[in-house]
Amino acid sequence: MSENRGTVSINAQNIMPVIKKWLYSDKDIFLRELVSNACDAISKYKLMVSSGEAEARENYRVDVTVNEAEGTLTVSDNGIGMTADEIKKYICEVAFSGAEEFLKQYKPESGESSGIIGHFGLGFYSAFMVSKKVVIDSLSCKSGAQAAHWESEDGMEYVLTESARTEPGTSVILYLNDEDKEFLEKWTVRSTLEKYCAFMPIEIYLNEIKPPKPETEEDGKKDEAKPEEKPAEPELINDTVPLWTKKPQECTDEDYKKFYTKVFHDYDEPLFWIHLNAEFPFNLKGILYFPKLKNEFTANEGVIKLFNNQVFVADNIKEVIPEFLMLLKGCIDCPELPLNVSRSFLQNDGYVRKMNDYITRKVADRLVSEFTTHRKEYEGYWKDIHPFVKYGCIKDEKFYERVKSAIIYRTTAGEFLTKDEYKNRNIDEGKDFVMYYTSDEKRQAQMIEMFTAQNRDVVVMDTLIDNNFMSFMEYTARDDKIQFRRVDASTDALTEDAKADEESEKQLKEIFQTALNDKELEVKLVSLKSDELPAMISVDEQSRRFSEMSRQWGGGMEIPEKRTLTLNVKHPLVDYLKSTDDEEMKKLVCEQILDLAEMARQPLVAERMLAFLKRSTQILSKAVEAGK
Ligand code: ADP
Repeated sequence: MSENRGTVSINAQNIMPVIKKWLYSDKDIFLRELVSNACDAISKYKLMVSSGEAEARENYRVDVTVNEAEGTLTVSDNGIGMTADEIKKYICEVAFSGAEEFLKQYKPESGESSGIIGHFGLGFYSAFMVSKKVVIDSLSCKSGAQAAHWESEDGMEYVLTESARTEPGTSVILYLNDEDKEFLEKWTVRSTLEKYCAFMPIEIYLNEIKPPKPETEEDGKKDEAKPEEKPAEPELINDTVPLWTKKPQECTDEDYKKFYTKVFHDYDEPLFWIHLNAEFPFNLKGILYFPKLKNEFTANEGVIKLFNNQVFVADNIKEVIPEFLMLLKGCIDCPELPLNVSRSFLQNDGYVRKMNDYITRKVADRLVSEFTTHRKEYEGYWKDIHPFVKYGCIKDEKFYERVKSAIIYRTTAGEFLTKDEYKNRNIDEGKDFVMYYTSDEKRQAQMIEMFTAQNRDVVVMDTLIDNNFMSFMEYTARDDKIQFRRVDASTDALTEDAKADEESEKQLKEIFQTALNDKELEVKLVSLKSDELPAMISVDEQSRRFSEMSRQWGGGMEIPEKRTLTLNVKHPLVDYLKSTDDEEMKKLVCEQILDLAEMARQPLVAERMLAFLKRSTQILSKAVEAGK
């Protein structure tokens, strides 16, 4: 074959700069592209072997070699190889027409530089992002083929000649740009290979050719035999049969746990996992793990690694994976995912939607089956999974519909109840369904005790997600609406039916309003189901939530809470207030009752606390004085 010169394509001049720019921020993907081409070439060879067109080889491997002295990084395979004509066709023409098509489909959205696109489909030419020259040295496995040598400095003009190569297969040799010399460092190449190629289906080895040591005087000494420095052993990089490609019945718990630790570097055992294994109507494999939470805030540090035929694509692509799954850890391999289209297209893609539905359904079904078959264990790790489940419900009503029977509520007594169980135990026939909760078991202990003393369950809703989840249940959940009320929101459940007399109520209201100098104070007189408490403060649920929200988001605007002081008609202190003429004592008692009631809900602010302490001493002194 004579020397053959040519220009790749007219359009190449336009396309190359674009490719380079787009891919710039994810430069290291060139290695993934070259190694996956090498794996493909071997897989194709294996196919030929199985159809009798080629002889089986003893081993199949891809070798990645760094050579610092030469400034090269080489990817070699013993796959099908290419003839000169094939190089012309596949490398010079087809690849570009592919890129052109890609350009037509993909209109970059402003500000988007390295989406998943950028990531896929450009293949071989990504080598020019890091190289000042690229060489292909290849011998096709077809019998009688002539080995070919292709080289190009810019990806646009090339020279194609014969090569003396005798081993079938292909080597792609990159002469790295000066600014990309980091890819001559073994550990950079290793970590890049580990990132993208850890599960590719053909064995990949990392090799290093060390530069010869400069001669020292010592070496110069003749006669003294010096042991030859042994070249480092090739390092195997990948696991060619990742766990998700196996059948679930072939994998042990140990396998799943080991895989989890290896892939996610998380040394806490996962709680449980779901092995996704669909072949019909679409092809999707993967493993999703429910991680153990370290604290509430690590909840959203999941990782979902997306693969395309065992080739790593990216972590956490939110267009493809249901958002709430981002709290989990896992690998998903979907060979049919159309990755060479824009992100906005993906969001509306039918395949992606089906895939999402499938995963969502699998996760929900698994939770329900865990709940029904291993309820005790499920209760044990509910604290780890509940943020995920609740977040999932809020984000996706379909998920809620499937998982709702497995939603449980922990009570202050440490029991776990479903919504229906709570209802059956706590709500009388014909009464509205209200679920009482506490947002802080310690601070609201007195209120909680009032409920538990009457055998009423109080559930604990004390994490960030709970506020959103309660709103979801109150407003969005179809057919299953629940009203949530904090233990201090109303005294209804703690009040005996008998109505206290209105005259006394009016009188007491006036006494308190005057003593506390607060004409707005709401005062109610009831018969509490307790003989010990003189009064309670309740804050209307909705007004408290508004007020909390305004404090959080309102930028300083305060919305006051609607609070009511509920007095217990049975308590002697309340009687005392009605009958005493001691104005000074009356004022002290009113203030003290109000503060005590407040303290049962939340700590007093500093100023009020000081006043309370002072007043307590004053009352004690008076009591002692009176007893003398
Ligand atoms: P893609 O891999 O997306 O098709 P590439 O630009 O990476 O695009 O490669 C274009 C074509 O060149 C491949 O489809 C393949 O036919 C051929 N090719 C690339 N690398 C090799 C290789 N190492 N061995 C054999 N053929 C190869």
